[in-house]
Amino acid sequence: MSHDDSEFDFDVVRTNILNRSFATTYGEALKEWSYTGIVTEYEEPNEVCQLCGNTGLGSHFRIENIVTGRCLEIGSKCIQKYDVPVYGPDGQHLDSQDVQKRLLSDVDEVRRAHVREALAKLPERSAFFRDVYELKEAVPPLRLLQIFDALDKAKIPHRKSCFKVELRTKVARAELESLTERGFRSLSPALTSEQRRHWTRPQNPDAAKRESMKLWQAMQRRDKRKAEERLRQRS
Ligand SMILES: [Zn+2]
Repeated sequence: MSHDDSEFDFDVVRTNILNRSFATTYGEALKEWSYTGIVTEYEEPNEVCQLCGNTGLGSHFRIENIVTGRCLEIGSKCIQKYDVPVYGPDGQHLDSQDVQKRLLSDVDEVRRAHVREALAKLPERSAFFRDVYELKEAVPPLRLLQIFDALDKAKIPHRKSCFKVELRTKVARAELESLTERGFRSLSPALTSEQRRHWTRPQNPDAAKRESMKLWQAMQRRDKRKAEERLRQRS
C-alpha cells in the first residue's frame, strides 16, 4: 500500500483513465469509475499500481468503469488521491474519511479470511491453535510464533502480515521484549509499526534467549494445566 508522493505523475494517471473511458475529459471520465470492493493481497509487496505506475504495492484495489467495463488494479492511496468514487451500501458517495475506513475494513476482511483459511487446514493435533487464535483474532507474541511454527510444519501457506499480535497484557509485552533477534524477525511482519517499537535489540543475546525460554516454558505449563482442567471437567 506504499506510495511515494514524489513519484506521482498526473499525465500517466490521466492517460490511463482516458484510454479506458467513454468521456473525453478527465473530470467526466472519472465519474464513470468506481471502487469495486475487490481487494487482492500479495505475499510480497512487489505489485504495480495500474493507475500511476508506482511499484512496491502489497495490495491491489480494483476500480471499474461502468460504461466501458474496463478495470484497473491500483493502490489505495491512488483511490484517495485521485478521488476515484467509492459508494456506500446505499449507493451514497462516501467522503474521504469514510473512504479510508472502507478501504481499511476491506483489507482487514481479506486478511481475516486468509487467516481463517490457513488455520482451518491445521492437523488435528494442533487444532488447539485455531481455537486460541479465533477467540480474539490476535494472540501474544510467543503464541503466534508457535502458530507460525505449526503452519510451517504442516506446510500450510500463510502470510504472516495477515495475523495480529495481542500486546495489551504485561505478560505479552514481556514476551515481545524477551525475543531474540531471530524471534523478532520471524514475528515482525505481523506487528504494527507501533508494536515494533516495543522491541529493542538485546544487549546480551544469551540472557534474552534464557528469558525467552523461561516465558516459553511458563506458557507450556499454563497450556498443560488448562488441558488437564478440560479433561477433568469432561470426566
Ligand atoms: Zn497509484
